[in-house]
Amino acid sequence: MILETQITIYVCSLCQRTYKLKEDAKKCEYLCSKLLESPDISVLGLTSRTYNLLKIAGIDTLDELRETTDSQLLNLKRFGQGALNELHQKLQRYEAKLKNH
Ligand SMILES: [Zn+2]
Repeated sequence: MILETQITIYVCSLCQRTYKLKEDAKKCEYLCSKLLESPDISVLGLTSRTYNLLKIAGIDTLDELRETTDSQLLNLKRFGQGALNELHQKLQRYEAKLKNH
């Protein structure tokens, strides 16, 4: 005898992770929305070099990044104009994506 079980999955609308329980999906949506308020800089998809330089400087979230001026960034060890350009580009792309959401 073959039992056909209907499996319902619940998806977090923000990160697309799937859950068997609705509560878990809701919990994930809550956590994801918190994260969206001040996401980790990893959401920018920076090169690992730039990412690590920011992490070392204690910049973990986009809010912290926005509070840091360009000249402060350029004062960081090994953080050059190239990294700054990359950062601006990725940040712009990220914010454009948010607007189109
Ligand atoms: Zn989620």
